Amino acid sequence: MLAERMSRVSASPTLKVLVEAERMRRRGIDVVEFGAGEPDFDTPVHIKKAAEAAIEQGFTKYTPAAGTGELKQAICDHYQMLHGVQYQPSEVIVTAGGKQALYNIAMVLFGRGHEVITHVPGWPTITEQVKLADAEPVLVRTYPDDGFAISAEAFLHALTPKTRAIILNSPCNPTGALMPEREMERLIDAIANQGIWVILDLCYEQLIYEQAAHHLPRLLAERLRDRTILAGSASKSYAMTGWRCGWALGPDAVIGACNALQSHSTSNATSISQKAALAALTGPQESVSEMLAEYRRRRDSVHAWLSADPRIRCVKPSGAFYLFVDISALLSAEGIATSAEFAQALLDEAHVALTAGEAFEAPGFLRISYATSMDRLREGVDRIASFIARLDAAGKTPVATRA
Ligand code: PMP
Repeated sequence: MLAERMSRVSASPTLKVLVEAERMRRRGIDVVEFGAGEPDFDTPVHIKKAAEAAIEQGFTKYTPAAGTGELKQAICDHYQMLHGVQYQPSEVIVTAGGKQALYNIAMVLFGRGHEVITHVPGWPTITEQVKLADAEPVLVRTYPDDGFAISAEAFLHALTPKTRAIILNSPCNPTGALMPEREMERLIDAIANQGIWVILDLCYEQLIYEQAAHHLPRLLAERLRDRTILAGSASKSYAMTGWRCGWALGPDAVIGACNALQSHSTSNATSISQKAALAALTGPQESVSEMLAEYRRRRDSVHAWLSADPRIRCVKPSGAFYLFVDISALLSAEGIATSAEFAQALLDEAHVALTAGEAFEAPGFLRISYATSMDRLREGVDRIASFIARLDAAGKTPVATRA
């Protein structure tokens, strides 16, 4: 019944938990929500006001498919300010979220016979988009022992003559890890002049907790500019997930192709959202640092609370707003066998919704989003602890790992 390409993509079965959580909530059950991949903060007032003004002033018509000139300029200025890189508006396309930026890029760059390397645990959309573009995803793994650090070596091992591109997400969803600058330098040195594209997903670029040097765009723009695409978004930095505004920057020819594709699919990102994104990028930035400070406080608290049980191995993330915890010490054939089952039982019995590692190609892990209030975080972690205590009492956790 459906086109052949649909047999290659799947809606993640583990996201079922979140749908079920919503159903429970509608039935009046008090579900603690750790599943959301979006800020709990409201969009800052000055951004909402800019959108109201756009409506009032009738800025409600088509814009150029690739976005307004003023917003494209603001995006160039944003990267100039953050990383000292120089892009022209003709090298920018405004999209309906970072997701569409990455989708356009996949469609205009990848095809049959291409391999595209990306890292896991990682955001599932990246591999699904590669498959939709008829190309083959190649997955390299990062590990909790070194904080899930994204290393050049792993990519270099995976290179073949068919390698078309490497897609990097730093800070990474779900691990919160950053690609260190020295690793990016090593990668660039090794792949220079091979025609391999590097696509850098910077969706969480302003949610970095450490003073870590993370000028990956500068390294790429200086040394691999004609093979580099940057993808970004207003969604996470400015609490604007519903507005659907993102962007891509890269060589004219690629951005032009994205524009052609987008002009025949969605056309421009919503005119009103473009005005809002313009206000986000050019207006006061205090809300970004305020949200970041609050995320840091939550990260530190939840990390400390969860680490009280040594069976929950918990890396402190450097960016984004997720803890990606290893619960394999709580799993066994006799008790709960997989992290997906664990997440399901946790929802059914303790009413805590989170995403199992299976969604990110990482069985044995759970992703906890701390984009929710401190009170709810405390409540949710207490429920998880009681749930595990009940498993212990029922003999459903491995004896060897029990306290
Ligand atoms: N990249 C990553 C790693 C993400 O987690 C997300 C959203 N969950 C996106 C890109 C895209 O977000 P948006 O389309 O809202 O900009």
